[in-house]
Amino acid sequence: MRDLDAQPPVTSESGTPLTTYGRGESQGGSSRENGRANGRGNGHELLADLHSLLERICREERHPQALHELLSRPARFLEVNFPVTGVDGKTRVYKGYRCQHSDLLGPGKGGLRYHPDVDGSEITALALLMTIKCALLELPFGGAKGGVVCRPKELSRRDLEELTRAFTRAIAGFIGPETDIPAPDMYTDAGVMAWIADEYSRLQGRNEWGVVTGKPEGMGGLAARGTATSLGCVIAAREAAWAVGIPMEGARVVIQGYGNVGSNAAVFLAEMGARIVAAGDSAGSIHHPDGLDPEALREHKTIGGSVAGFRPGREITGEELLEVPCEILIPAALENQIHEGNAARINARIVAEGANGPTSAAGQRILRERRILVIPDILANGGGVVASYLEWVQNLTRRRWRPKEIQEELEQRMVAAFRKVYARYREKGGTMREAAYAIALARLAEAASLRGWVR
Ligand code: NAD
Repeated sequence: MRDLDAQPPVTSESGTPLTTYGRGESQGGSSRENGRANGRGNGHELLADLHSLLERICREERHPQALHELLSRPARFLEVNFPVTGVDGKTRVYKGYRCQHSDLLGPGKGGLRYHPDVDGSEITALALLMTIKCALLELPFGGAKGGVVCRPKELSRRDLEELTRAFTRAIAGFIGPETDIPAPDMYTDAGVMAWIADEYSRLQGRNEWGVVTGKPEGMGGLAARGTATSLGCVIAAREAAWAVGIPMEGARVVIQGYGNVGSNAAVFLAEMGARIVAAGDSAGSIHHPDGLDPEALREHKTIGGSVAGFRPGREITGEELLEVPCEILIPAALENQIHEGNAARINARIVAEGANGPTSAAGQRILRERRILVIPDILANGGGVVASYLEWVQNLTRRRWRPKEIQEELEQRMVAAFRKVYARYREKGGTMREAAYAIALARLAEAASLRGWVR
């Protein structure tokens, strides 16, 4: 038996970490364990929220009703039931899904999750989110998502491989480098992606590694992928700081969630001259007004499992962490962390949503009234899918990106997306989130019109 929790937190463009069930560190509004933990609903509720935002923006932007209808439903949805014979010699039948929400702008792109709570509406909602995120970032992808209902922590690595290969055979006609490209998500990692790429290639009779992203480097993956989400988030935060006139040198930063996204963001921000004055994780939070050493803090967490106890620094509660005065606050843990109950006490100028859905709808309203600039998740954590795009291009062209090129691509795409969203927000008012959705929808509307799908 191998515990998936012992693996490094390999995450997808959609950003769901490998973690324990119910810890709630999954895609924003996306998983039922989050729903239970935060009083939010399951995939149905997320889907309903997304539909109402889509409906409102389509109406305000005067897009044809047919566009709203088109985006309200997945283009294709596959449910499969497939047998897997485990190392114990017993055969079990698993249920899996793959949803291609839209291929208006290109092949479907989105994670594949293994979790007992996976359900069709959740998968559909997350696929829709990917459509919006890819459109905003001007990537040539549509949105997709998949999952298998299983308990990965109870499976041996060998059983996990059998399940992955069987699922790949079941959906092989549905995915492909030009049709739909899965990536890691909750409880799926680079190793799982390697098995999918291998099984799919065997079926095709040729190497088709571009069928998935998030692969190990030895199979065409990108070295920089592990830090791409954080770098993208920091680029967006830096742009926001420039926009509102905050110098990065000496800017105070608070980070909630010192995991993959949070700790790497802290390191990048410190390199830009910012001061990490507080950071927290699920087991504790630490405050030091003179600034924490982000690398040393990460080492401390790697050894002890938490930032708690780091010195120099003072222990504070998770609630106090979010209220520490700062210029930039990065919620990089769970959803619904900034809400009606604490938004009035957030002491930041900029909130960069590293996590998915860290700000509730009521929290968003309060931050807006308080003129705190919120960089929405679909923009702030979009660096992961940009890296996936680069990996896909690398696989299709057989030309490896140089590290400098990867950084430049990420920089250019994040800056362009931020500036577009910010310009629209300044021009039209509302929130940065509404601006981001409006821009994404405009791109989708244009493609739908050019292709003659919506007249
Ligand atoms: P991770 O598991 O590496 O880190 C999560 C961190 O949050 C951990 O340090 C954990 O202790 C901490 N945490 C959990 N509960 C907390 C709480 N109540 N208060 C404070 N901290 C708490 O996960 P990650 O990959 O860094 O992802 C973090 C968030 O970013 C998730 O919402 C994820 O969906 C989103 N995201 C990640 C990526 C990516 O590429 N990793 C991409 C897009 C979005």
